[in-house]
Amino acid sequence: MYKGLKIRLAQGEPAIKDLQKASLPELFRGMPQIDGQKFTDGGKKCLEACPTGAILPDPLRIDLGKCTFCSLCTKANPEGAISFTSEYHMSSSTREGLITDGSVKMIRPEMASEKIRKYFGRSLKLRQVSTGGCNGCELELNALGNVNFDLGRYGIEFAASPRHADGIVVTGPVSKAMSKALYETYEAVPNPKIIILFGVCAISGGVFQDSEEIDRSFLKDFRADLYIPGCPPHPLTFISGIMDWLDRK
Ligand code: SF4
Ligand code: SF4
Repeated sequence: MYKGLKIRLAQGEPAIKDLQKASLPELFRGMPQIDGQKFTDGGKKCLEACPTGAILPDPLRIDLGKCTFCSLCTKANPEGAISFTSEYHMSSSTREGLITDGSVKMIRPEMASEKIRKYFGRSLKLRQVSTGGCNGCELELNALGNVNFDLGRYGIEFAASPRHADGIVVTGPVSKAMSKALYETYEAVPNPKIIILFGVCAISGGVFQDSEEIDRSFLKDFRADLYIPGCPPHPLTFISGIMDWLDRK
């Protein structure tokens, strides 16, 4: 018993105290930076290496809504024109906001409307809808409830039923088989309600974007409120995105 308590004391505080100011190890691939002067071919090799079409030409930019953070572009250009920092603040309230020219250090969403902040600023219940991804995104969402992140301390929780939720968190590219279920889940959430897209599959189709087995009609019919990039996104990208959007400190 005494030995156990000693170990526990040595471990220190398990919960990350300030989730907005936490830092991640250098190995984490977060916000990309582009140094155009280091390209020896104008970025051609990087463009060709990108498997998801996340690199946009003239001028060269990266669409984080398509980027899987695979680092193939950095390997294609060893001069270091494209590099990744460990910055996890990358969420946006608009789709266009995810496109970076590589000069900004981070992306933060615009604040939600006063009505949304009034309704959900202190308590937010979310229903997660898994629409056919690889399960990586679901694992990171599960991690939000563990002792390190402890999302519940901010009044943000996942609900078992859409009828008890304030919005949905979509993961996966939306397979044909899940299209109807996604519509029905969203319809079951009472108004006002929000849509959060978690991961590049949900945002753009990601590695599945050209598959004939996806049906993204729902995302054409309804506009998302918050885009969380990554493949999968880090829990801190999710938390910081929601906290910024709701103007929570
Ligand atoms: S890290 Fe992103 S931009 Fe670079 S090759 Fe992979 S998907 Fe494309
Ligand atoms: S975004 Fe990446 S981790 Fe998430 S479901 Fe798609 S492939 Fe899997």
